[in-house]
Amino acid sequence: MDIKNGFVDTVGNTPLIRLKRFSEETGCEILGKAEFLNPGGSVKDRAALYIIKDAEEKGLLKPGGTVVEGTAGNTGIGLAHICNAKGYKCLIVIPETQSQEKMDALRTLGAQVRPVPAVPYKDPNNYVKLSGRIASEMENAIWANQFDNLANRQAHYETTGFEIWQQTDGQVDAWITSTGTGGTLAGVAMFLKEKNPAVKTVLADPMGSALYSYIKTGETKSEGSSITEGIGNSRVTANMEGAPIDDAIRIEDPECIRVVYRLLREEGIFVGGSSGINVAAAVTLAKQMGPGHTIVTILCDSGGRYQSRLFNQEWLATKGLSPN
Ligand code: PMP
Repeated sequence: MDIKNGFVDTVGNTPLIRLKRFSEETGCEILGKAEFLNPGGSVKDRAALYIIKDAEEKGLLKPGGTVVEGTAGNTGIGLAHICNAKGYKCLIVIPETQSQEKMDALRTLGAQVRPVPAVPYKDPNNYVKLSGRIASEMENAIWANQFDNLANRQAHYETTGFEIWQQTDGQVDAWITSTGTGGTLAGVAMFLKEKNPAVKTVLADPMGSALYSYIKTGETKSEGSSITEGIGNSRVTANMEGAPIDDAIRIEDPECIRVVYRLLREEGIFVGGSSGINVAAAVTLAKQMGPGHTIVTILCDSGGRYQSRLFNQEWLATKGLSPN
């Protein structure tokens, strides 16, 4: 028999998919880890599970307790699923700029949702800081604190990185992905570098994020903006701190959109904008490295979460973007 013991047991062990067209065009193996197939629909299920398990093990989260988090959506969705499965309550503080689909999903899952104005991290009313304050003022509540809680990158070190190594039989030349918290990029990079220091580790960054400049020059500076959600950061989180990252590639929105629609039309893979940044950056890296290399990236979440934006031609047009 092969039976999973509930929701929690189905997180992870996602397939690694060869992206046929992109591989043929570059002469490299471009592989996407299908994180959109996680039971909560995104790469963040892994971090959500590790954060909750860590809090349970430390005795911080007790039966009937509440998990509080500031999140752009996917972490909240993962947390809400796990809270339901384990009997906890969930309170999510989310910037108003995030898609309606993600807010609706959180409410459907029974999370208490507090949309707040999107203000920079340095502002005390920033959604992340606000979620920390709310948690500290509640009884029997924890703050998931995904940006600086190292249980996040540990999830990717122990599971995502391990799986990529197993699935490629150790035949991986490069690892590239975008970051929100940095948990995925850092955790996998740490695992792969330990196995083989020659694996090239690269950040894929959207415009508007300060991390491209951080990796290139050591200084956090940003320019431009992006319609992508859940990725890019203005600061170096604890999860990113000290991660072995060799280089960075920056992708502009028009290229991201082209790749998202090519994934849909040519590969039959329906994913969100961060996956577009990742695959576009993997292609750029393949061109830099030359044919014959195996490059792994992440297909973070489903395009269904962005139906009203990325997959709505009128909305795209208001941003001066088009799928072609
Ligand atoms: N893609 C999407 C759509 C996300 O929501 C996130 C997390 N916010 C990421 C990528 C990046 O994951 P991480 O937090 O591990 O850097």
